[in-house]
Parts: sequence; C-alpha cells; structure tokens
Amino acid sequence: MTTRRTFMLHVVAGVAATSMAAQAWAEDRKPLPEDDPEARKFDYVTDATKVDAKKYPDFKPGDKCLKCQIYEDGPNNMGGCPIFAGKLVAANGWCNAFN
Ligand code: SF4
Repeated sequence: MTTRRTFMLHVVAGVAATSMAAQAWAEDRKPLPEDDPEARKFDYVTDATKVDAKKYPDFKPGDKCLKCQIYEDGPNNMGGCPIFAGKLVAANGWCNAFN
C-alpha cells in the first residue's frame, strides 16, 4: 500500500531526475552568439525587445523563444532549438523562424 509520504517521495525523485536530465543536455551545448553565421541567417537576437519591427511587421511584443512552438525549455533561461542544433538559445531571444 502506498502511503502519502511514499507517493510524495516518488514525486520529488521524479522532479529531481527530470531537472537533472534537462541540465545534462544543456551542459553539452553552448549559447548561440548573435554574430554566428547561422544566427545571422535568421536574424537571431538574444533579446526579443531588440527586434526590428519595421523589418518584421508580423513581430508582436511578447514574441520570444520561450513562446515559440519548437523551443525546448532548459535551465537558466536557455533552451534548445532544432534550427540551431547543438546550441542554446535565450528564452527571451527571437529569430525570424518564430512560430
Ligand atoms: Fe527561438 Fe523559435 Fe527562432 Fe528557435 S525558431 S531561435 S525557438 S524563435
């Protein structure tokens, strides 16, 4: 019979394991610099408030990697993005492939 305490210990262990897994994949990656040739192709910025709204009229304030459908959330306000494989993008960043 599972007691409430046992259940809570399993929940805590599961959360810790998930957090450690997220930390592990992130440790293998480096942040994507804005001047990286691939980043420039997509006009990637680490701060979405710096997006040129004239150049990108579909950009809406609040759009950022964290809200992008393909963003893979990670630790320390950084995450993965399939477009920039092996790198970390800023949760508050943005590129012209935002969706
Ligand atoms: Fe960020 Fe989405 Fe662009 Fe990837 S595709 S860099 S998650 S806005």
